[in-house]
Amino acid sequence: MPQATGPRPPLAFQPNVFSVPPMNPHPRHIRSVLIVGGGSAGWMTAAALAQALQCNCTITLVESEEIGTVGVGEATIPPIRLFNETLDIDERDFLRATQGTFKLGIEFVDWARLGHRYFHPFGPFGRDFDMVPLHQYWLRTRADGDGSALCDHSMAWSLARENKFLHPASDPRSVLSTFDYAYHFDAGLYARFLRSYAEGRGATRIEGKVGSVQQNGESGFVESVTMEDGRILSADLFVDCSGFRGLLIEGALNTGYEDWTHWLPCDRAVAMPSAHHGGPTPYTRSTAREAGWQWCIPLQHRTGNGYVYCSQFMEDARAAELLSQRLEGAALGEPRHLRFVTGRRKLNWNRNVVAVGLSSGFLEPLESTSIHLIQANISKLLALFPDRDFDPATIAEFNRVSTTETERIRDFLILHYKLTMRDDSELWRYCAAMEIPDTLALKIEHFRRHGRLIAREMDLFAPPSWLAVQIGQFNIPEGHDPLLDHRGTDAREWLGKLRAAMAAEAERAPLHREVLERHCQAAA
Ligand code: FAD
Repeated sequence: MPQATGPRPPLAFQPNVFSVPPMNPHPRHIRSVLIVGGGSAGWMTAAALAQALQCNCTITLVESEEIGTVGVGEATIPPIRLFNETLDIDERDFLRATQGTFKLGIEFVDWARLGHRYFHPFGPFGRDFDMVPLHQYWLRTRADGDGSALCDHSMAWSLARENKFLHPASDPRSVLSTFDYAYHFDAGLYARFLRSYAEGRGATRIEGKVGSVQQNGESGFVESVTMEDGRILSADLFVDCSGFRGLLIEGALNTGYEDWTHWLPCDRAVAMPSAHHGGPTPYTRSTAREAGWQWCIPLQHRTGNGYVYCSQFMEDARAAELLSQRLEGAALGEPRHLRFVTGRRKLNWNRNVVAVGLSSGFLEPLESTSIHLIQANISKLLALFPDRDFDPATIAEFNRVSTTETERIRDFLILHYKLTMRDDSELWRYCAAMEIPDTLALKIEHFRRHGRLIAREMDLFAPPSWLAVQIGQFNIPEGHDPLLDHRGTDAREWLGKLRAAMAAEAERAPLHREVLERHCQAAA
């Protein structure tokens, strides 16, 4: 059983480790880490480091209640489960503490054209059978006049459209093993939950504002930060979780920012929670709007809503007005305005500073990837954990991987905008006509010709995700894979059986609301 969270006794008082003194540390080991910022990025970092660095290193986090956090960020993708599992966090405890719900994918409304919707499910479409991917059979039956939708072959969608949820089966013979899931949760509550986890494992929190940063005159390495009240906090390694301002990585080290606004033009968001309108859906909804798109994220106690838009085509006040008119339930708060520039920090690790969270860049929330990128930088930091020599090769490898990961996600996000057929507003006309990165153009072109999905090293989104968006937005291949014509499989019958099996399982599955009530109901 995964262990419940909560404060653990200090390491020295655990009977099994009491008699085993810590090994003599390497003379150049990291003795102290200072995390600047206590949003989701700061506390995820503190929790992971507190668990991984069991001795010979102090972990301190400084944050300012007066400055506060971004306070949005509620939808995730399946790898978040691995993060929680690595920390031994029990799913029920976590969902109860964060007002969390389950997420099977994202429904995209009006993205391809007005009045059209499709689903990006977590997990594959059906299962691989014969030698050719399932969607190739679907393409052939479609050309022969079969009217079934690709999504009808997704277990995640079969459940989601009925507002049902259950955990995937472990038996690979079951269709219930062919989907994946993630969570929606209140990111502020998640940070609070991880704070208690990290403090229970020895991390220390300091309240206050960092006023200045001191660097070594020769190397430029950060040596300490000075608080506005005069306290000086020094460390060997600094993790910059200070949000968009990038207090250390940019403010002190001037690392530079690569601006991707020409590909991902939205640069503003307005967020506003609302009361539930019906039970929480087990999926996020993204609706394309005149100057961007609107999110709808169901939590247990409320629905999170926001309008992400491009300031070139929409005034802030008008965006807030449109969002409040389009809420499905009563508004529960005032509109909250946010500004950002899509892109990435040129280096995520510079000297002895590692940027995690919004300080490392922001790609916009369309596919819920920011919390994942926090997790990805934490994993890389642990995999490449330095000593005080800060080997440049280690830093270069970290930056190589983080650059590639971010560019792959960037391409996937641009795909949604580029493949629109809408021409009813300036934003969509711009997106349909814009130049795109060659790496993305290649993927679109290959798919258009034979329906082939080109997977690239470090793609976060696997071929089924690319398939969902390309088919969902009408990049319909001109032909199917020629290998198919050398196979004698009766695809129409097989696909029909698969759809029937999925529909039957979805019929038997419990409602999402019932699972939450039984499994992990949060306090009102
Ligand atoms: P912040 O939350 O801004 O935290 C910064 C911290 O630094 C705060 O604690 C602050 O007090 C501290 N700080 C700053 N300056 C100082 C100082 N001088 N002294 C002391 N402390 C300081 N992500 C997802 O995965 N899914 C989503 O659905 C999603 N939706 C989003 C929607 C929008 C509109 C936006 C803008 C973001 C969204 N995100 C989403 C991203 C997500 O919100 C962030 O990735 C996440 O919250 C991490 O933020 P952070 O901790 O890096 O920064």
